[in-house]
Amino acid sequence: MQSDLKKRFLSHLSLKTILTIPYSLLIFFAIGMVSYTVYTKERTALNNVTSQLRDETAAHIQDHLVTLLNTPHQINQLNASALQIGRLNKENTEELQRYFLDQVKTYPAITSIYFGNSSGGLVGAGREVTSGIFYVTETENFQHGNFLKLHLDENGEKLTTPLSIVPNFDARLRPWYINASQHGDAVWSEIYILFTGQDMALAASRPVYDEMNNTLLGVVSVDISLLQLSDYLKNLSFSSVGQIFIIEHSGALVATSNNEIIFKDTNNDGTKERIYAQDSQSALIRQSNKLLLEKYQAYENIPDEEQPIEFDLDGKKHFLQYFSINDKRGIDWIVVIAAPESAFFKNIDVGNRTALLLVLTALVASIVASFFIASKITTRIQQLEQSTNILAAGNWDHQINMDTRVVELQGLINSFTIMKDKLHHVMTELMSEVEEHKITETKLKEQRDFSSQIINLMGQGLTVLDEQGRFEFVNPGYAKLLGYEIEDLIGKKPKEVADPEEVEKINIQRKLRTAGKTTTYEARLVRADGSIATVLITGVPRGTEGNYKGAITVVTDLSERKRMEEEVRQAKDALQHALTREAHLARTDELTGINNRRHLFELAKSKVKVAARYQLSLSVIMFDIDHFKKINDHWGHSLGDKILMEIALVVQSEIRSSDLFGRYGGEEFIIFLPMTPATQAYTLAERIRKRVANLKVHSDDGDDVSVTISIGVIQMRTGPTPESLEELLQRVDKAMYDAKESGRNCIVIDDL
Ligand code: GH3
Ligand code: MG
Ligand code: MG
Repeated sequence: MQSDLKKRFLSHLSLKTILTIPYSLLIFFAIGMVSYTVYTKERTALNNVTSQLRDETAAHIQDHLVTLLNTPHQINQLNASALQIGRLNKENTEELQRYFLDQVKTYPAITSIYFGNSSGGLVGAGREVTSGIFYVTETENFQHGNFLKLHLDENGEKLTTPLSIVPNFDARLRPWYINASQHGDAVWSEIYILFTGQDMALAASRPVYDEMNNTLLGVVSVDISLLQLSDYLKNLSFSSVGQIFIIEHSGALVATSNNEIIFKDTNNDGTKERIYAQDSQSALIRQSNKLLLEKYQAYENIPDEEQPIEFDLDGKKHFLQYFSINDKRGIDWIVVIAAPESAFFKNIDVGNRTALLLVLTALVASIVASFFIASKITTRIQQLEQSTNILAAGNWDHQINMDTRVVELQGLINSFTIMKDKLHHVMTELMSEVEEHKITETKLKEQRDFSSQIINLMGQGLTVLDEQGRFEFVNPGYAKLLGYEIEDLIGKKPKEVADPEEVEKINIQRKLRTAGKTTTYEARLVRADGSIATVLITGVPRGTEGNYKGAITVVTDLSERKRMEEEVRQAKDALQHALTREAHLARTDELTGINNRRHLFELAKSKVKVAARYQLSLSVIMFDIDHFKKINDHWGHSLGDKILMEIALVVQSEIRSSDLFGRYGGEEFIIFLPMTPATQAYTLAERIRKRVANLKVHSDDGDDVSVTISIGVIQMRTGPTPESLEELLQRVDKAMYDAKESGRNCIVIDDL
C-alpha cells in the first residue's frame, strides 16, 4: 500500500518538483554540512578557548592570592625585625605611623598595618577601602585606652578631629594579638568583620620578640580587605560570563565576583554575620556549592584540584572548576569558578543563528531560483508538449514560435521543428500511400468478392490443391458435381473420388503439373451415389517454377455437356426433318403426292423459259374429271379422293421423268411435257384417257366405280415472241373446256 502510494507519487512527479526539490535539498544538505562542520570546529575551538580561559583565570587568581596572602606576612616580617633590632623605634608613634603609612601606600592590597604593644596600645596606618582616604590609628599614650582613628589631609598631616573613637581598646585582647602571641609565629586571624561594619578583613599577624631574651614586645599585623578581593574577582574578565567565589571549609564566603554583600545582620541584633555559599544571592553560587557538597559530602574532602565538572542549571549546561589555596598559616580556601556554557557560546550561537538564517535564506532563494528556472524550462517544455498535441491532432500548419536562452532547450526546439517538418513530410507521403492502399484494397476486395462470387456461382468445379495434392479448397460447383458436401472433400486427394482405373492417369497429370505444366485431360470421377461423371480437368500449377505449391483445377462435367450436345443434335435432326417435311408439303399435294399448284407453276416457269430460249417444243395437257360432283355425292367424298389418287398413279406411270405433272386444283390436273410436240402429247393424253376410263374403283358399298376425263392439249408457241406460262394455261384451259363442250371423255387439241 505504502509502496503503491510511493510509486504513484514517484510516477507523477512534475518536472518542477524534480528540478526544485533535489536541488534545494542538495543546497540545504551542503549548507547544513558546512554549518555543522564549522559549528563543530568552532565548538571544539571554543571549548579549548574556554578551558584555556578558565585555566588562565584560575592561575591568575592563584597568583593574585599567593601574592595577596604572602605580602602581609613579608611586611610583618620586615616590620617585626625592624622593631626587634631597633631600626624602628617601638615607642615613637609618629615614626611608626609614617612608616606604616608608606607601606600602605606601597601595597594597594593592604588596608592597614599596625603594631600592638604589650601595654595594649596600638599604632597603625591604613586606607579606607571605599574612599581610598588614608588614615592613622593610635591609642592614647600608646597603651590600652581610647582608640582613635584620624584622617590625614592632603599634606599628610593628621586632622585633629578623630574619625572615630573606640574607648577601652586593648590590643592584647584582639584576636590577631592573641592568636599571634599564642602561636609564637606568623599566623592568620579568623576572617572578621571590621568593627566599622564596612568591610570584612583578614589579618596577618606576627609576634615581635626582644632580640635578647625573647620577651614579647607586641604583635605586628597587616589587614587585607576582602571587599578588595571581591573587587578583584569582579574585575576579572571571566566575571562577565561566570561567577568566581572563594569559600572556607565552613562554607562561609570569603569573596565573590557578583558584587553581593557577603556579611549582614541576619538576626537583626546589630551584629553582622558572614554569609554562607548556600545562602548566596547567586543561584550559580548556590548550585555550584550544592554540587560540590553532593560530590564530596564535606568541604574538607574536596581535593586541591580537579578536572572541571559539567552540570545543568535551569536546563543550561554549566562548567565548574575549582582549586584549593592553603598555606601553613591558617588559610584553607576553595576557589570556585563557574560559568554557563552559553556564555562562551553566545557568539557562536549568534553565529549559528546567522548561519541558520543564511541557510534558510539560501534555501528559500534556491527554491525560488530553482522554481523560477524550472518554471522557465517547464513552460518551454509544456509549450513543446502543447505543440506536440496540436501536431498529433493533425494540425501540421502549427508553427513552433519559441525562443529561449537555454542552449539545450533551444536545441530541442530546433530539433523538434526539424523533426516536425520531416514527420509532416513522411506522414503526408504515408497518408497518400495509405489512401492508395485503401483504394487498391477496396478494388482487390471487390475483385476478390467478385471472384469468390463467380467461383461460388460457377457451374464448373474449381479446386485448390496443396503441395501434397490434397483439396485445400473446393467450390460449391465441384461438390455439387460429385454430390458431396464441401467439408467431406477438404483434405481428400482427387484420386479418392476417381474411377480406380483413372488413378494412373491422374498421377501422371500431377507429375506434369509439378514440373510446371498446365494440363488438360478427361477423367471419370465417381459420384457420392456411385455413378460416374465424365469430366474435363484443367490443372494450373501454383507457385513458381521449381517451387511447387499445389495446383488450381477447373473441372467441367462433360456428361452434362454431352447430354446437352445429344439433345441439341436430336433437336437439330427433328428440326431438319420437320423442315424437309415442311418443304415437301409445300411442294406436293397432300392427297396425291404429286406437285401442288404453286410448285407446279414454279417448275413450269423454268421449263417454259428453257423451251422459249432454246426454241424447244413443249406441250401441255390439262384434264378434268367429268361429273365428279355426282360421284362424290353418290359414293362419298372419300371415294372421290381414292379416284383422284388412282388417276394420279395412272398419269405418273405414263409420263417421263422429265415431264412435269401436278394438281391444278380440285379434280383438274396439268402435265408439262418438255421437248414434246402436240401430237405426241395427244397420244399420251389418249392413253391416259383410256386408262382412266377403264379404271374401276371399289366403293364401300362394293360397287366398281368408273370415271372419265375431258382433256385439252396444246403445244407452246415459240419464236420471237414465245408464249408465257399464263398464256399457255389460258389456252390449254380453253382446249379442255372445249373437250367438255364436245361431250366429255374426249380430247381437244388446240392447233398451233
Ligand atoms: P363436268 O363434267 O361439267 O365437269 O361436271 P362436274 O360434276 O365434274 O362439275 P364441276 O367441275 O362443277 O364439279 C366438280 C366437283 O368435283 C365438285 C367437287 O365435289 C368435286 N371435287 C373437287 N375436288 C375434289 C376432291 O378433291 N375430292 C372429291 N371427292 N371430290 C372433289
Ligand atoms: Mg372441274
Ligand atoms: Mg369435272
